[in-house]
Amino acid sequence: KMRGRKLGILHVFRDVTRERELDRREREFLAEVTHELRTPLTSIKGYADLLIAEELSPEEQRECLEIIQRSAARMTTLINDLIDLSRLELGQVSFHISFVNVSKLIHLVTESLRLQFQEKQQKLTLSLPNNLPPVWADPDRLTQVFTNLLVNAHRYTPAGGKIAVRAGQDGDRVRIQFIDNGIGISAEDQVHLFSKFFRVRSQSIANIQGSGLGLAITHSLIERLGGTITLDSTLGVGSTFTVTLPTAPPQPIPQP
Ligand code: ADP
Repeated sequence: KMRGRKLGILHVFRDVTRERELDRREREFLAEVTHELRTPLTSIKGYADLLIAEELSPEEQRECLEIIQRSAARMTTLINDLIDLSRLELGQVSFHISFVNVSKLIHLVTESLRLQFQEKQQKLTLSLPNNLPPVWADPDRLTQVFTNLLVNAHRYTPAGGKIAVRAGQDGDRVRIQFIDNGIGISAEDQVHLFSKFFRVRSQSIANIQGSGLGLAITHSLIERLGGTITLDSTLGVGSTFTVTLPTAPPQPIPQP
């Protein structure tokens, strides 16, 4: 009887600490969100005030309006990412799963980013075998994942750099690698890379804007699709993100 009671107390104690931990994480998350939103909002207010209070030349007015426009766009991206992530975490995102041709999808995504790569004189190579089996996934969600990984490779690789996409079959999975010879990620930072709002603090990316939500969303999407994502990176050398996806539905379809 005594032992039963003691166990009971232990159980309650553990529940409370878990709740506190969740509470703490939620508060931290809220603090980060508000901070991230306040920065562009401060610019919008500041430049709007300036436009109203000062006699500015048409060029100066235009400059103010462009900053306001950029800041508003940044808030929109941030809010859209936040909505995406919370809907994913709440299980409110519906997936439309079908057989997807990975090579075709990679071609579509890279085509839509071609100009961005060109502007930075980055060389993009694709190694996609012809006999790659289709994956069992949601094509729109996969487009989102591939776009995020390629845009990151583009942004965190200096001008003139190289980016490659390689795919291959690995048993009952397809493996897709996004390889860049960019700035790389240190071992300490790699641990946090898929966490919400995590961005590497370094001089080299101080002027690259981002929410730090992209990889958290990507990770969550891949997990929901029954896939995996791993990272192999060396600071100053480059990064390789490896995604694997199932080629067949998890449950075999019964034959009639
Ligand atoms: P964002 O790019 O919006 O900051 P992400 O979640 O997509 O957010 O990425 C988180 C961080 O991971 C980035 O801020 C960057 O520091 C680092 N990172 C992501 N991809 C790469 C890459 N290919 N090379 C180097 N660093 C990267």
